[in-house]
Amino acid sequence: MAEAGKTGGICVKAQNGLRKREVEKFWRILKEKKEKLEASLSAPMQSAGCHSELCDQADSNRFLEEEVRTRNWNGRELGKVNAAISRIIEGTFNQCIGPDEFHLDNEDCDGRVGINQLEASAIGQLCNHCLAELQERRKSREKKKPVARMFD
Ligand SMILES: [Zn+2]
Repeated sequence: MAEAGKTGGICVKAQNGLRKREVEKFWRILKEKKEKLEASLSAPMQSAGCHSELCDQADSNRFLEEEVRTRNWNGRELGKVNAAISRIIEGTFNQCIGPDEFHLDNEDCDGRVGINQLEASAIGQLCNHCLAELQERRKSREKKKPVARMFD
């Protein structure tokens, strides 16, 4: 099988303990995600034209809200995918971004995102220690916030 062209002309190298083959695999996963997200974000809004008689204004609003939420989420996801792609190009793909991006002062930082985490999500940005630290912080922040009422 021809290797050329697989990564669209970008020279994907082994980096930070990841083999070339592994980096290439994540590159492909990320490119695929990017294409899907871009396609969904550039598609026209579906809900705006809810013409069914069964669809009242409240339903329309709800569908619209749902769609906007999904789009926002996809937009954020696309940002993370793009960031991961840039990190591959820069050769820092599996480098933990905890200290830089989240200003985590974590002595336990591995400096690298584990392969297991990358397998779970190719946009994995944090080592296990920083991830745990961040989750801990979010949890303690949640506690301070009044609990939102989800079911009325
Ligand atoms: Zn870290």
